[in-house]
Amino acid sequence: MSDLEPYEGNPMMRSAEISVSFEFFPPKSDQAEASLWAAVERLAPLRPSFVSVTYGAGGTTRERTHATVARIARETAVEPAAHLTCVAATREEVDAVIRDYWQVGVRHIVALRGDPPEGVGARYRPYPGGYESTAELVASAKRIADFEVSVAAYPEKHPESANFETDLDVLRRKVDAGASRAITQFFFDNAHFYRYVDRVRARGFDIPIVPGILPIVNFRQAVNFSKTCGTSVPRWLTDRFEGLDDDLETRKLVAAAFAAEQVFDLVHNGVTEFHFYTMNRADLVYAICRLLGLKPVLEPVPERLVRST
Ligand code: FAD
Repeated sequence: MSDLEPYEGNPMMRSAEISVSFEFFPPKSDQAEASLWAAVERLAPLRPSFVSVTYGAGGTTRERTHATVARIARETAVEPAAHLTCVAATREEVDAVIRDYWQVGVRHIVALRGDPPEGVGARYRPYPGGYESTAELVASAKRIADFEVSVAAYPEKHPESANFETDLDVLRRKVDAGASRAITQFFFDNAHFYRYVDRVRARGFDIPIVPGILPIVNFRQAVNFSKTCGTSVPRWLTDRFEGLDDDLETRKLVAAAFAAEQVFDLVHNGVTEFHFYTMNRADLVYAICRLLGLKPVLEPVPERLVRST
């Protein structure tokens, strides 16, 4: 017999304290729509605090984003959040979209400036008659109705920011305008996140900073995303995936192991909220959530479907 104390599990991991949210993008085809809904159906029973739907670069998915968000509001029990940008629309047009969201039951907006229609790296210019900054967009959503508003934050600073001070000034303006949560750009080295949170707290604001986690379904694609959004890819991470381009099975295991390492380290450092960039796929995100201790809660069978004996 062992005289070891029984292991009660990791006291840092109390699933009741962990909350997650999932980000999807609006589908472009019927097939993509089917995979999106399969992912939503698989992940929804994990009871996320919300699921969000992105707004296409250059404002290109207005209708599809709206349709997806409205369907989530109509057909699922999860709270939808609609991303909205300042790009390619006048203030009146953006306000009309915000009012439509309130009408269909959406109560949470992820307010963003967006990237220039010419693409990341091009100089950003406000659309004629449009919102000039995210802070203005946040203020407008709050003025129109009592929305919860989340905004973006950048642990490695936004690529356009000259320094962290400028970056944090912009975050400050968004918070002052009414944002109540910041969701970060994805990062692979948690040290960036910890330093960033310290910087934000040193500025005296206590808004929740929720880490955005990108499970690495496809390493090459993740590296490409990183280049456009200013996320650094550590050498040790590249080493882990090196030579695995044609070895899907090992790549998936390595990706799952890395994701587990990343979120466990965050939990051990006190993080309890996570935002997952799902890329409209459930498998890896579902597995990470299970590792975090979350279990699916199945909806009770509606009364009318219960057969009487
Ligand atoms: P802001 O925080 O308003 O500004 C970003 C940076 O721009 C600042 O840090 C600063 O460098 C510079 N800047 C802005 N205003 C000023 C100023 N007055 N003076 C000096 N510098 C200034 N994009 C989409 O198109 N659709 C989406 O659905 C979408 N979802 C996202 C979700 C998350 C969680 C994140 C992190 C990003 C998302 N993005 C999305 C990308 C985002 O639109 C881009 O990163 C964009 O370049 C900046 O948007 P922002 O709201 O973060 O901008």
